[in-house]
Amino acid sequence: MSEISERLSELEQLGLDRRLRLVSGPQGPRVLLDGKPVLLLCSNNYLGLADHPRVREAAADAAMRWGVGAGSSRLVSGTMTIHRRLEERLAAFERTESCVLFGSGYLANVGVIGALAGSGGTVFSDELNHASIVDGCRLSRAEVVVYRHLDVEHLQWSLHRHGGRRNAAARRLIVTDSVFSMDGELAPLEEIVELASAYRARVAVDEAHATGALGPDGRGAIAAAGLEGEVDVIVGTLGKALGSYGAYVCADEEIVRYLINTARSLIFSTAPGPPAIAGALAALELLTERPHRVQRLRSNARALRRALAAEGFPVADEEMHIVPLIVGEEDASMRLCQAAVERGVFAQAIRPPTVPPETSRLRLTVMASHTPAELRIAAEVLGESARAVGLDPVTVGPPLLEEDLAHTDEYDEYGVLREPVVTAQSVPERQQGVPFDVERRVEHPEAVPALLAGELGSSRGPGQPFDLERETSGVRAA
Ligand code: PMP
Repeated sequence: MSEISERLSELEQLGLDRRLRLVSGPQGPRVLLDGKPVLLLCSNNYLGLADHPRVREAAADAAMRWGVGAGSSRLVSGTMTIHRRLEERLAAFERTESCVLFGSGYLANVGVIGALAGSGGTVFSDELNHASIVDGCRLSRAEVVVYRHLDVEHLQWSLHRHGGRRNAAARRLIVTDSVFSMDGELAPLEEIVELASAYRARVAVDEAHATGALGPDGRGAIAAAGLEGEVDVIVGTLGKALGSYGAYVCADEEIVRYLINTARSLIFSTAPGPPAIAGALAALELLTERPHRVQRLRSNARALRRALAAEGFPVADEEMHIVPLIVGEEDASMRLCQAAVERGVFAQAIRPPTVPPETSRLRLTVMASHTPAELRIAAEVLGESARAVGLDPVTVGPPLLEEDLAHTDEYDEYGVLREPVVTAQSVPERQQGVPFDVERRVEHPEAVPALLAGELGSSRGPGQPFDLERETSGVRAA
């Protein structure tokens, strides 16, 4: 047996193997899943704009006018008028000076972290941040300090340990999701911004699940918290509420100029194509013209949550559009997913490494385009499916407990993320008077994929402007 087939059968035995399911038709409330009609309850097309006629038309028109591909990196010939127009609109929407588009949210996070906290810098990252942030930390070659999920006291302690308040010259970056993708929790943005200012760190906030879903006129969690103008870097994706593909970073002009000069995932990757950009532009227009969609999403979220509670699931009565039904064991979550699909509801089971072991779940997501009746039916089907596979809904769902987080440093073995995570439980002893002794230096060149290794030269000496790690005379773009 080859190493690959061994690995695959190991994943199968652990209940962790993945298959691609085929959806026919657009990402609407009802789709054909592998040929079978189902209610779709796991798409991030939160506002129902991916399949909106105006968005489709805009993308189709753009294909006719500008073609399909952008042809090269943004730094070569890939910056087209349509890119510039969307950047201007997004900067106005986010109320920042400037904006730059990236190929995807994943690329944006990787680029931002590497640029703002490269070698010699320090990144402070929530332990449940998205995999793209985790990978950004790894590739950046900065020192990575992972603080406990949502724990501002731990973040403060970590900032204190790594440079304190005095060290203004050190490049320090705090990075967090604003809405955590798998649990729908909100980051403590106000406290994070305060700590950043006290400890002279920059803050980057990933609004992937917040843009279009919360805040005044759907402007996200930063706006909802009244923090506009106080976050250094806002990362957003065009792939979720904005119904398209691609991503953006909003910041002041200087930071954007710096990213254009140093963010490797921008420089070395083809610009997103005109149809995707025009589609996002139309979606943004629809959002700003008719922000009632955001309210519809939120009232739908409450409707689903109440209907699930009526079935016995312990979900909070709130308006967050991401609703985790935490089953625990991998196999059980797959069985629940399958039972629901057979009864006409599709909510994909999410397993490690996307979530910590023992917290496998159905991650339900609401769309503004669902009807309340569809959401009630979905809740009934989920209740019936849980009972059919021997699960009492009452036991399905409490959000992550402190103990659940204890294992997060184990699951790197199966794929991607969170190598630097150290949680309180994994630290043998705490020192007297020191709240948490969990700092960790990440100096692991092995984290740099082999593909890139050839490109990485020796570190630049002092006085050299950028941490591009390329020994070529100029920036060579893809
Ligand atoms: N950040 C978060 C929090 C996400 O959930 C995702 C996508 N799941 C991304 C970034 C990546 O965005 P994209 O899909 O545009 O690459």
